[in-house]
Amino acid sequence: MSFSPSNAVRAARDETFSMLPESMDALAASVQSSREGSFAALGSAFLTRLPAAPVPDPYVIAISREMAASLGFDAQLADGPERDAFAAYFAGNPTRDWPSDALPYAAVYSGHQFGVWAGQLGDGRALTLGEIEHDGARLELQLKGAGRTPYSRMGDGRAVLRSSIREFLCSEAMHHLGIPTTRALALIGSDLPVRRESIETAAIVTRVAPSFVRFGHFEHFYSNDRIGELKTLADHVIDRFYPQCKAADDPYLALLDEVLKRTAELIVEWQGVGFCHGVMNTDNMSILGLTIDYGPFGFIDGFNAHHICNHSDTQGRYAYARQPQVGYWNLFCLAQALVPLMGAHLPEEGRAEKVVEEAQKVMEHYKTTFGPALERKMRAKLGLETERDDDAKLANALFDIMHANRADFTLTFRNLAKLSKHDASHDAPVRDLFLDRAAFDAWAVQYRERLSHESRDDTARAEAMNRVNPKYVLRNHLAEQAIRQAAQKDFTEVARLLDVLRYPYDEQPQYEAYAGLPPDWASDLEVSCSS
Ligand code: AMP
Ligand code: MG
Repeated sequence: MSFSPSNAVRAARDETFSMLPESMDALAASVQSSREGSFAALGSAFLTRLPAAPVPDPYVIAISREMAASLGFDAQLADGPERDAFAAYFAGNPTRDWPSDALPYAAVYSGHQFGVWAGQLGDGRALTLGEIEHDGARLELQLKGAGRTPYSRMGDGRAVLRSSIREFLCSEAMHHLGIPTTRALALIGSDLPVRRESIETAAIVTRVAPSFVRFGHFEHFYSNDRIGELKTLADHVIDRFYPQCKAADDPYLALLDEVLKRTAELIVEWQGVGFCHGVMNTDNMSILGLTIDYGPFGFIDGFNAHHICNHSDTQGRYAYARQPQVGYWNLFCLAQALVPLMGAHLPEEGRAEKVVEEAQKVMEHYKTTFGPALERKMRAKLGLETERDDDAKLANALFDIMHANRADFTLTFRNLAKLSKHDASHDAPVRDLFLDRAAFDAWAVQYRERLSHESRDDTARAEAMNRVNPKYVLRNHLAEQAIRQAAQKDFTEVARLLDVLRYPYDEQPQYEAYAGLPPDWASDLEVSCSS
């Protein structure tokens, strides 16, 4: 069974990609380095301009054609006579002298890492080239892994091929899942050696987003008591991304409220597909509520509510089940940083207390947003159209037996759509994922009872469920296969995975193997912070 985009829509969509002739020069010229209203225009308190450090003989590993089209150019540019120029440009190698006011830049920010104040951080290996405006949208282009910056601390400014493949693929996979995320345009490799636990090679991902501002940007100016710059930053974010806040009594309180809602909704999406971010430090929290900074992330295979995807997270601070609370904690850090801007509309007498009171009230919206949004998500995942009191209990009971049985997250929900509301004759595809068949059977009795209150038939329910329960996610072992081949200079698996993950909710019979359980060899795959 397939659903939207139907084949016709898909064909039309694909056709648009061959209608945008462009040249590398034209593309480079369309990247604006400090337009009015851009982050870059905020000036030197916020960023440092510097050229990227060139890499030897860069080559194109992959490109996202949807992203290229959204930026107004044809992805074939990366595959034709200008291939080398494309690779050089997106490696950060200067193709001509950079005019000094058009140099790329690294932004400064600070943050809390693993719950501890870490002080100044910043783009230690990311350089923003500028922004492209296309179809009314302004998007920033950023090279991750383009060399050292003033914020590199002890780091080498590089990113390795392995982690760059993961970031490139997951950015696009999340987008196709419908989950807010920074995007990826291109993945460029070089044989430049990079030392991690062993010697690896360098890669550069071109990331794309309307803004890369993080909670940590606000914490930076707050912690240094630079309230003027804090205000400049907040006004920039409001002007560009939350203009509706300007009309509020307190625009900065309204900003907190908006960011809080987006963050809550984002984390609901993560929980809904079994995604663990891995490093939810406040410097990795987007002010736009995007998934940002893909590191040791992971999609859960066999469900464990306390799954820790980051090998270095020994305390499990960022375990799956803790992500919602961590989001809330991080928002407190943002709230604290915004407090000095709040309360201008209040009488001076008692202002400080009132501001804190109001901010705390707004923080409560996290719970009133997150809870109901998670319930809606779980109802949709269970294929329930109507609401009944015990729905959350039913969902939790499923999670309990999934956890006890380490049932595969993605397959459990996907295969649940095959179950019939009438009898157990079609239970096998989901039931067989549970070692404790009796526990599943007991849950299925409750589930069927619940389905009996729904008017939808099995076919319609399955179709709706398949639109929210993906069949294809970037499982660690799939990324690992692409990484191992890429290390041998074979990039076909990267391209194939990008293709599979383009339609995560569709049946793609030619790619059935990509929807299966992880093979035995994958059980001891570990993903560390090193990237
Ligand atoms: P992360 O945990 O990857 O979000 O990184 C935390 C901070 O360390 C950020 O400021 C990064 O820019 C910086 N960083 C991470 N890796 C490197 C590296 N290899 N070179 C320079 N800076 C880095
Ligand atoms: Mg980061």
